[in-house]
Amino acid sequence: MKLFAIFGDPVAHSRSPLMHNYVFSKLGFEGCYTRIHLQDGTKLKETFFALGLSGANVTVPHKEAAFLACDEVRGFAKEIGVVNTLINEEGRLIGYNTDADGFMFAIQEFSALKKVLILGAGGTAKALFRRFLQEGIEVEVLNRSEGNLAYFKEFHTPCHTWESFTLSSYDLVVNTTSAGLKDEHLPAPKEMIENILANTRYGADAIYGKVTPFLALACEKNIPAKDGADMLLGQGVLANDYFTHHSFDQARIQEVMAQSFLL
Ligand code: NDP
Repeated sequence: MKLFAIFGDPVAHSRSPLMHNYVFSKLGFEGCYTRIHLQDGTKLKETFFALGLSGANVTVPHKEAAFLACDEVRGFAKEIGVVNTLINEEGRLIGYNTDADGFMFAIQEFSALKKVLILGAGGTAKALFRRFLQEGIEVEVLNRSEGNLAYFKEFHTPCHTWESFTLSSYDLVVNTTSAGLKDEHLPAPKEMIENILANTRYGADAIYGKVTPFLALACEKNIPAKDGADMLLGQGVLANDYFTHHSFDQARIQEVMAQSFLL
């Protein structure tokens, strides 16, 4: 029996154990997936190996710590410095990122995206940002504080704090902040979010499992918007594919994992 886990703080809300355990049981893979509340990200690697894990996911706020903890980082995660999936490969910690592709899977129904505003500048924002650039989509970033914007500025992307923000028009605005996750905060002052929503065709929130104040406001303004559930599904399918060493068809994993959302 192989053991897997999700590390995060908070982590109690995570649906990943349900999703992965459901797939393991339905596809006959001998695996068990649990959740670990980890406050100190520097303890990630030693905790992973002390528990004898075969693989793990990493959620807020440890994805950048996970990147630093890895012996080797592969693929897109290497470009962005953000890891959300860990694999134990013969005692070496290998890191991947499945969030960005999970998000692209989630927004397939949003057509002709030319310009996106990302709210937030953390790990998820970086992943989506680099993926949007790969797709040739123009991006602006709005964050409550200056510090995390440094990464985006290196790409000569228009970056704003709440104080320096100037409104434009967007095809999509994505909330990647954790505002609304454990609280009822909007990702920026209300008037600013109202103006942004009045100038976008679509909205999306990375948070899932609740109607965040951001989603509620988008809904009130009749903006087609979706929560992070499909992103969760998309990243989960790709992570499960790594956990099960590509033993199953990805479409089959997706089909079964989607059923776990109905439980
Ligand atoms: P990080 O901790 O890396 O970044 C958090 C960001 O949110 C920072 O930019 C921070 O701003 C901003 N922020 C935090 N609190 C507030 C607030 N009250 N008001 C405005 N801005 C705020 O987090 P992650 O990028 O890892 O995750 C972000 C969110 O995305 C989480 O809610 C997570 O659950 C969700 N997520 C969902 C996924 C899914 O599959 N659906 C996958 C990945 C993430 P500052 O720089 O000023 O600190």
